[in-house]
Amino acid sequence: MATEDTKAKDAAMALAEEARETEWKFPSFTAEMFRGNFRWDLMHPYPEQDPEDKKIGDELIARTKEILEQYVDPFEIDATGEYPKEALEKLAELGLFGMKISKEYGGMGLSQINYARMLSFIGSYCQSTVTWLSAHQSIGVPQPLKDFGTEEQKKKYLPRLAKGEISAFALTEPDVGSDPAKMSTTATPSADGTYYLLNGDKLWTTNGPDSDIIVVMAKTPPKIKNGKEIPQITAFIVETNWPGVEVAHRCKFMGLKGLSNGMLRFNNVKVPAENVIGKPGMGLKIALTTLNTGRLGVPAAGGGGCKGFLDDCAWWAKNRVQWGRPVGEHQAISKKIANFAADTFAMQAMVFLTCSFADRKNADIRLEAAAAKYFCTEKTWTALDDLLQVMGGRGYETAISLYNRGDRPFRVERAMRDMRVGRIFEGSSEVMHLIMAREAMDTHFKLIMPIIMPQKGQKESKFKLIMNAAKFYISWYPKTWMPANTNFNVKHLNAANRDHLVFCAKTCKRLARRLFHTMAKYQAKLEYEQILLGNFVEIGTHLFVMAASLAFAEHLLAKNPNDQTPQELADLFCKNARQHIDAQFRAVKKNHNYLYRKVAKNLMDGKYAWLANDIYDGVPPKYRDYAKNAPKPHKVEDMQEAPK
Ligand SMILES: Cc1cc2nc3c(=O)[nH]c(=O)nc-3n(C[C@H](O)[C@H](O)[C@H](O)COP(=O)(O)OP(=O)(O)OC[C@H]3O[C@@H](n4cnc5c(N)ncnc54)[C@H](O)[C@@H]3O)c2cc1C
Repeated sequence: MATEDTKAKDAAMALAEEARETEWKFPSFTAEMFRGNFRWDLMHPYPEQDPEDKKIGDELIARTKEILEQYVDPFEIDATGEYPKEALEKLAELGLFGMKISKEYGGMGLSQINYARMLSFIGSYCQSTVTWLSAHQSIGVPQPLKDFGTEEQKKKYLPRLAKGEISAFALTEPDVGSDPAKMSTTATPSADGTYYLLNGDKLWTTNGPDSDIIVVMAKTPPKIKNGKEIPQITAFIVETNWPGVEVAHRCKFMGLKGLSNGMLRFNNVKVPAENVIGKPGMGLKIALTTLNTGRLGVPAAGGGGCKGFLDDCAWWAKNRVQWGRPVGEHQAISKKIANFAADTFAMQAMVFLTCSFADRKNADIRLEAAAAKYFCTEKTWTALDDLLQVMGGRGYETAISLYNRGDRPFRVERAMRDMRVGRIFEGSSEVMHLIMAREAMDTHFKLIMPIIMPQKGQKESKFKLIMNAAKFYISWYPKTWMPANTNFNVKHLNAANRDHLVFCAKTCKRLARRLFHTMAKYQAKLEYEQILLGNFVEIGTHLFVMAASLAFAEHLLAKNPNDQTPQELADLFCKNARQHIDAQFRAVKKNHNYLYRKVAKNLMDGKYAWLANDIYDGVPPKYRDYAKNAPKPHKVEDMQEAPK
């Protein structure tokens, strides 16, 4: 019998499903790949930035550098936890709070490529600065207004935001993070429909405590459709100087010490009805659409962060001599630094390709943006960890301490603290996996789910649905066994890199086939096989990055055939990726995934308490009253049970 909690979960799932975008002019490379089609034509020739556009980016980067050097001291920000007000003013004077706002509303109207270049440049210098700017316009009010706002809203708010009034995006709450559909902040419409009363808490709102104009997602009264209650979430523009908006707490984190972030409390805040973005009920769609492009800022900033370390990495590996050799010549270290370079190249290839996709109107970049966010933040973390290891004790020491004792101030310790959150915010890595898995299964999902899990009120008969599915699979499935088209129009790649391209095309078909077999085996239970789905997502992501790296290498070689270094980086990345892909296929075939579930459940049930009965639990006595604020244990009978 469905409990209240499972009903709520189904409603939340239905809402999230309804909020997915479905209409696109340009298909997604990655979605096509999951169907077995290797669409090299979608990424080759690798897009070249328009020279005029590039000039705009180059000039802005040069002017930004001057401001950063003069007003932003990342070492001091990290030590004091204070972000200088003057720096914000100077960044605003330069127009950097309007990078994504179009010129007609007083902004710079940068292309996504130039925006990514800016984030990447600033990110290589100071991650706190880049987060202020990115939260403001990658996800703050400018982005949803651009996509969904009315002309009046744009005219009223965008010029103010472009000038430097600060924005933020308030979705997360103490009880909802990855699953925002179940939020509890409410917006109750007035009887005459002219305003809403906003009530609730929003947690971890970046820029929130110092913001002026923010976007808030809140629950509005449910709609009734076919006798069923459909929950509604609506997006509002809220000015933080309105009565009832309060900063309940300023949050501090392991890194990003210069961030302004907090818990915002809304207490009967009167929001005019004209401040609804889009239509009532569109809030979740607006939030998810905003995040689709918005989250591209994270890999751009992170990729820039990694590029910023290439020089440190090369210098150290060459100049630090131990056991009679530069440490970079010891093979264990050469592997790490070589991978650092190849991964940085791959990140650049992927991010700039995806940004150029985003610059096309109505292109489906959901999968690519999720893959870029996932891949780059994960790779950044492992790459920085390797780099720290390469630098030994100096990697662990703070930059300022190194400097004060007369050493080169490596920033890798701070970078690890600053950049770790990339795997969590704007959709965690696990949620990126879910998004990609959902989209990867889309074709099968649409054909098969109505047969195995018919919805109430479904119009078509089961027989008709089976016939439709059979018609599709009779022509599609045999194609996944046919040889892949490997006639690529590439002139510059060497034999090794061409071979990688052939591997991509063939593996696409293998991926589509195996995905289909797995779907047929697990049917509706596949949703719960996250590790298996994760293996497929890993394969898809790595094929995408391989292809992007090869297209990027081909592009660079065409421009400068005498420089073979892009080939080497692409080759190393692809060789590593192929090993990784092979391991994923093996894990699909033979694994012990059942054991993770069993051991995890036993752990949660306290069955391994004996393992830790001789330690101190870590919380000193005076802090033990924390339990009153922590998540409350859920009743087991209210939880959704995973199938056996
Ligand atoms: C520094 C910082 C800045 C932030 N800025 C903002 C902001 O500006 N605006 C805003 O609205 N939010 C912001 N957030 C919130 C951020 O987006 C959330 O932290 C994130 O969405 C994850 O939610 P959570 O932390 O509640 O984790 P939870 O949702 O509680 O998840 C805990 C763990 O479980 C995993 N998990 C959850 N569900 C699933 C599932 N179905 N399958 C598999 N794994 C799952 C998660 O990946 C995570 O590893 C910020 C957070 C931080 C730390």
